[in-house]
Amino acid sequence: MDSELARLLDAADFAARKHRRQRRKDPEGTPYINHPIGVARILAREAGVTDVEVLQAALLHDALEDTDATAEELERRFGARVRRLVEELTDDKALPPAERKRLQEERAPRRSPAAKLLALADKLHNLRDLQRCPPAGWPPARVHEYFEWAARVVRGLRGTSAPLEDALARLFRERGLEL
Ligand code: NDP
Ligand code: ZN
Repeated sequence: MDSELARLLDAADFAARKHRRQRRKDPEGTPYINHPIGVARILAREAGVTDVEVLQAALLHDALEDTDATAEELERRFGARVRRLVEELTDDKALPPAERKRLQEERAPRRSPAAKLLALADKLHNLRDLQRCPPAGWPPARVHEYFEWAARVVRGLRGTSAPLEDALARLFRERGLEL
């Protein structure tokens, strides 16, 4: 049986290879993999998560949505629970963006506890990125709309992790939004 550390690094290596040609939307074009690593780090450092499968799912959370990785491949390499968690975090790209955003809001309260934790860390990392440096071509109103939408999703994820919800509430409050 591989050690948990080896399994965690397998997930980091797999995600890094799958996302290798992708960049984030910030003007510097940060390598995409910085985001999944940042989400996993938030879970370990700020939420105290030690469940290796949740940390693996964080590293892999955008692999189905944004790369050619398949659910079967995730299950074969990382097991059925990691596959299910990543699937829970994956939007259906066949749907128009506005519909995908609406479904995230609608489905948030019914997610599994581990998927809620992952979704909170994902939102926190994206909002910190937006706060630090918005994507080129995003006027302040678009950034604000994103915060408003994220607050509606996060309301449906509450009761999951006090440190993450407190950090998110602080970010929202700075923009005049209450959770
Ligand atoms: P999004 O608004 O969904 O972009 C945000 C997503 O991009 C994040 O959730 C994150 O997802 C990812 N991302 C990548 N880089 C960054 C970064 N540096 N900081 C934060 N997030 C980052 O983009 P779409 O192009 O899909 O836009 C679709 C929606 O935007 C539609 O609903 C549309 O109505 C709205 N829109 C609004 C406009 C306006 O001016 N108000 C103009 C055009 C569209 P992940 O974690 O999955 O990587
Ligand atoms: Zn993400």
